[in-house]
Amino acid sequence: MRIAEIHIYRHDLPVLNGPYRMGHAEIWSLSTTLVKLVADNGLVGWGETCPVGPTYSESYAAGAVAALTELAPGLIGAEVLPVPLHRRMDGLLNGHNYAKAALDIAIHDLLGKHFGVSVSDLLGGAVTDLVPSYYAIGVGTPDDTARIAAEKRAEGYPRLQVKIGGRPVEEDIEAVRKVWEVIGGSGMRLAVDGNRCLTTRDALRLSRECPDIPFILEQPCNTVEDLQKIRPQVSHGIYMDESSTSLNTVITAAGTGLVDGFGMKVTMIGGLHPMRAFRDICAARKLPHTCDDAWGGDIIAAACTHIGATVAPELLEGVWLAAPSIEGHYDHENGIRIEGGYIKRPQGPGLGVVPDESLFGAPAASF
Ligand SMILES: [Mg+2]
Repeated sequence: MRIAEIHIYRHDLPVLNGPYRMGHAEIWSLSTTLVKLVADNGLVGWGETCPVGPTYSESYAAGAVAALTELAPGLIGAEVLPVPLHRRMDGLLNGHNYAKAALDIAIHDLLGKHFGVSVSDLLGGAVTDLVPSYYAIGVGTPDDTARIAAEKRAEGYPRLQVKIGGRPVEEDIEAVRKVWEVIGGSGMRLAVDGNRCLTTRDALRLSRECPDIPFILEQPCNTVEDLQKIRPQVSHGIYMDESSTSLNTVITAAGTGLVDGFGMKVTMIGGLHPMRAFRDICAARKLPHTCDDAWGGDIIAAACTHIGATVAPELLEGVWLAAPSIEGHYDHENGIRIEGGYIKRPQGPGLGVVPDESLFGAPAASF
């Protein structure tokens, strides 16, 4: 089976009840990029990538389209298999994992349909049909944050992430304390995500002023060097998110004991094929991690759910989806939904999601 056609689509996703606030950005609407691969046997596979704005990491929506446009002509006629695909993509363009991930996901969708198996089976086999999610509360007032935390605990989410940063650290500390007042003792786990925004001074203060709250501190500061600096001085577990941009950084972070786990995004590391290697590296070192994406609709949500379903349950911190912040679905019947804090693993071959193409209009480019 070889790639016969590549079509690239752009689609706007307004943020429901926006904005979504992180320490460094307010998001009102995002542009997602979809890839449709048509194989020489007529089968169709879909992929998606949606950077959460231009400042979250070194990726942005127009960059995804540009990189895919650069790659696509060299991929016509390529075998629909992940190893040769990644080698070929790396021979055509250096870096740009977030764009390559969309093609990688589409290849997995195609392969699953070809063999009549789900993407999670292709990735080694699902160990659950009910995948835990977690809820991320954007930066807000301590009282609002605690109110949402109580709602999400009642809905059944097993884990909560609270965004902090971009304001005086005293307010972040107050928000974390108020959240713990409402979820402490419930069994709900807590992550505090700085999205790179804290100084090492403020990260140390947050940890020292909350010694009684067992949260993990997710990417509090901007660089690997910052994490190395605070690591010996904090008692809270540290997870790496934005700095883990490749398998190389993951191997170093895991191998040197820099972190206690990862917030990982399928598109950040380049797709499901490298994500599978990441999962196995984490399993070898017993490092918990998420299987998320930055943003996006049903296609990326299905990809994250399938890889999440293959992770050892004791190491899976959850699959975060943008679904609660997005109106409607690409697949009206089998779109990916979070119910009671959990996601049903999509059934059917490939991703198990078939988008309504008419939503996306004419392709931005076709090859
Ligand atoms: Mg994060």
